[in-house]
Amino acid sequence: MSVFKGFSIKLPVYTVITPQTGRSFDVRSLTVAEVSKLKSSLVTPSRATIIVDNMLWDSIDSKPEGWTVDIFKKNVTIKDREALLYGLYHVSFGDSRSISVYCTSCGQQQTIDIKLGSHFGMEAYPGSAGIKNSYIVGRASGENPIDEEIEVSIKKDQLKKSKTTAPKGMPAEIAATENLDISKEDEEFGVVNKVETAIDAPSEENNSDNIIDKVLRIELPISKVFAYVKQPTIADEESLLNTIPYATKKQSDVSTDTLIIEKFEMIKPDGKSEFVVNRQDIIWGYEELSPLDRDEIFKTYNENFGKYGINLNVGFECKSCGAISTNDLDITAHFFRIIASS
Ligand SMILES: [Zn+2]
Repeated sequence: MSVFKGFSIKLPVYTVITPQTGRSFDVRSLTVAEVSKLKSSLVTPSRATIIVDNMLWDSIDSKPEGWTVDIFKKNVTIKDREALLYGLYHVSFGDSRSISVYCTSCGQQQTIDIKLGSHFGMEAYPGSAGIKNSYIVGRASGENPIDEEIEVSIKKDQLKKSKTTAPKGMPAEIAATENLDISKEDEEFGVVNKVETAIDAPSEENNSDNIIDKVLRIELPISKVFAYVKQPTIADEESLLNTIPYATKKQSDVSTDTLIIEKFEMIKPDGKSEFVVNRQDIIWGYEELSPLDRDEIFKTYNENFGKYGINLNVGFECKSCGAISTNDLDITAHFFRIIASS
């Protein structure tokens, strides 16, 4: 008698480009067992997030050489994860969906049928090596239209390269005069490079301005405190969630919101700086701020980091009042909803 050892099924695969770090991953479909495991993890939001992160890593078909799950988590941002979740959702549950939307004019809720893929859009961070390389190839073959943001980023790389290769005795700035304006622009923004970099992986992108290494120092208008704003990775999020395992959805949302703040800096009367670096202290400090200070933090984040990601804008005509509305679907919420109803 033969013993059944399981099918050898080749599960379908979906290729995802991460919008912020510009990497390409092949995500394979979840199995029935994995969906059940996810479903039983939905009790606490912290737990569910960590299980999804691990499952994303498991579902990547050809993993980058030398990578472990920890390296993966340090090199994938929270915005990148949305793209990966979209791929996982699409490849596991298909493209056709009945979704519930709200009319932005009369507020009525209704159900419409859509093809997810036809609403998918992505804005890629122009600084990542992967995005720049494919852009250069696309431009050379005449397929890509000129993208000013990526052009600026490529010029910055050339400036960095010429700085390191400038002949002795010649200031690098003179060797690359035409690009000077770009580095000045960065100084105005207060771009500082993190001393300890998040990347443990063998790095092939020394010349690119990796979004994970970017930190902006901004002065808050009311408190005059300086906030250091960055793009958190899923490792940053997990280390926070591990400290609040029983948090409700709302509590964990407020806490993860503050992850975009790396630290605060206060200038004391004697002119010396004092830094707030402990995560719990950052959350307390954040809660004491004026809403205007908070808005400044989120505005800086959105303009420099948050706008790079995927979007799923669904336009529809209201069955009740006839107005045309657009809803931006939250892929993470949709992903968990479909898991819960499977
Ligand atoms: Zn309406």
